Amino acid sequence: MAKWFAALRTPVGGFAAALLTLVLALAVFAPILWHDNAFAIDTNAIGQGPSAAHWLGTDDLGRDILFRVLVATRLSVLLAVLATVIGVVTGLVLGTLPSLLPRPAARLVTSAVNIAVAFPGLLLVLFFSVIFGVGTHGAVFAVGFALAPAFARLAQTLSASVAGQDFVSAARISGVGRIRLLLRHILPNIGEPLVVNATIGAGACLLAFSGLSFLGIGVQAPDYDWGRLLGEGLNGIYVNPAAALAPGVAVVLAGLAFNLVGETVAGVIGVRTGLRELAPRPVTPAREDAADVRDDAVLVVENLQVAFPRPAGWTVPVRGVSFTVRAGEAIGVVGESGSGKSLTGLAVSRLVESPAVVTADKLEFAGKPVLTTPERELRGLLGTSLAMVFQDPMTSFNPTRRIGRQLAEVAEQHQGLPRAKAFERAVDRLRAVRIPAAERRARQYPHEFSGGMRQRAMIGMGLMGDPKLIIADEPTTALDVTVQRQLLRLLARTRAERNTAIILISHDIAVVSQTCERMLVMYAGRVVEDLPSAATPRHPYTRALMAATLDLETDREASLAVIPGRPPEPDRVPNGCAFADRCPSATDRCRLEDPALERVGAEHRVACWYPAPLSQPAKETVTAGGAE
Ligand code: SF4
Repeated sequence: MAKWFAALRTPVGGFAAALLTLVLALAVFAPILWHDNAFAIDTNAIGQGPSAAHWLGTDDLGRDILFRVLVATRLSVLLAVLATVIGVVTGLVLGTLPSLLPRPAARLVTSAVNIAVAFPGLLLVLFFSVIFGVGTHGAVFAVGFALAPAFARLAQTLSASVAGQDFVSAARISGVGRIRLLLRHILPNIGEPLVVNATIGAGACLLAFSGLSFLGIGVQAPDYDWGRLLGEGLNGIYVNPAAALAPGVAVVLAGLAFNLVGETVAGVIGVRTGLRELAPRPVTPAREDAADVRDDAVLVVENLQVAFPRPAGWTVPVRGVSFTVRAGEAIGVVGESGSGKSLTGLAVSRLVESPAVVTADKLEFAGKPVLTTPERELRGLLGTSLAMVFQDPMTSFNPTRRIGRQLAEVAEQHQGLPRAKAFERAVDRLRAVRIPAAERRARQYPHEFSGGMRQRAMIGMGLMGDPKLIIADEPTTALDVTVQRQLLRLLARTRAERNTAIILISHDIAVVSQTCERMLVMYAGRVVEDLPSAATPRHPYTRALMAATLDLETDREASLAVIPGRPPEPDRVPNGCAFADRCPSATDRCRLEDPALERVGAEHRVACWYPAPLSQPAKETVTAGGAE
């Protein structure tokens, strides 16, 4: 609230608020107070200039110009607001349709919007005026529909930015349908910028409407708005210039009021009023590693690839990942930032959105092919059998909805429970993840929870169904050490009690090796080593990660071991082994040929031409360049 008062105290904010209040007050009271004066014909005072009796002069029927301008405020503002409402609603429908329709239809709608946006607004207004015909109604629709493409683009852009948030992914993975997702999770979070842009759009509508009336294709006699008064005043501009200037000034001031108020509100809530572009393209293939087939697998991934379009071609940040996860198994996925570990987690949950392209020779969850199963069927399966816990506990829940209701939505959707029963179940699950005073907490909003509690509530949301797999992406990064421990214990307990498999994605190899029985080490979009946590790592990268880990045996006097250099950017992965530039054992062969992930033990696979001997302890690894 303090921000709003501060904005009102600025010269622009104060002026905007005062001006808009004046315009709205005139719109309400002027016709009540001065309707008769504005319509009073005086044949003795036809076409007069300003005088004490008529401050702005009279028109060609002797009617007072000032009263007519004041009374015209209501119709001018009302029509502009109506046109804005039509534009915003049509734009919102067109902008959000692509997220509801199948992909070909969505592309069609998006292309139509893109084409419409390319036309100048004035041309669209005139085009629609011809279609809807001369008169007030036709002009309202013409101006409204001309505004719609810009709003459709804005809604598309805003929806796309919110659709990438963790809480939307969480809702999607819990099986919330597209319409519900849109109404409950996306629209409430793009409402503010839309309102701001609508306010600014109302100013533009006012100008457009006045233009149409001025041209004689808007409001028709005996009704009149500022545009019509402007047109009439222009006929006698040499006799009485004030008759043309007064409605013109009114249009400018009212338009200014809407625009300044919109800009002030945008400044307070931090909304950008501009639009940005997105551009889709096709994909190229990458490489493949041997899959490791296991019995009773919950998840089977073979040659998974994720590609993104870029202006210069395709970037493939996940390049042929293969692994399986068995029931009740805990595997850790480790690697530096940009290794593709989080993207792999999102891709197996089908949370990677277009224009990115996900392909795999095999991607099966609980025996169902994830990429080819119809969305409705898959939604039911993922909603009850797969849970996601994201890195940032602040963005994991929809900030506008109570925690209990967000959990209950899963039971309403998948178990068909009535609202009250679903809420009871949500409270029960919050209790199961040790949230104190669960019933009271269920009625609170996400910002009222601590970071650790939000993560536990996220696991509770996963437990609303009967999860076969929990994918936890850096779930402890934002938490302090004590809360980290509690959360990892909770995951371990859930796994033990329900035989739930866990994929723990982390950059912290120490946490992963303590929590999971198996590790996948990823580098530059590939799995470079797949090994039991207790085994001696043999890939130079895994060994370097281990060497850079602090433990109680680390010599505090020695320099901290680091891995020199940086991982390659996804669009600049070299030929041969991607780790060669940082590897102390690299040879010419490494720089020419990319090693496949080969089996070197019963449960151990390595992608390296020269895996380290088992006899060499990992902590003795010295990386090229030593400490930085
Ligand atoms: S293949 Fe060569 S460069 Fe790559 S990790 Fe092995 S030894 Fe190092």
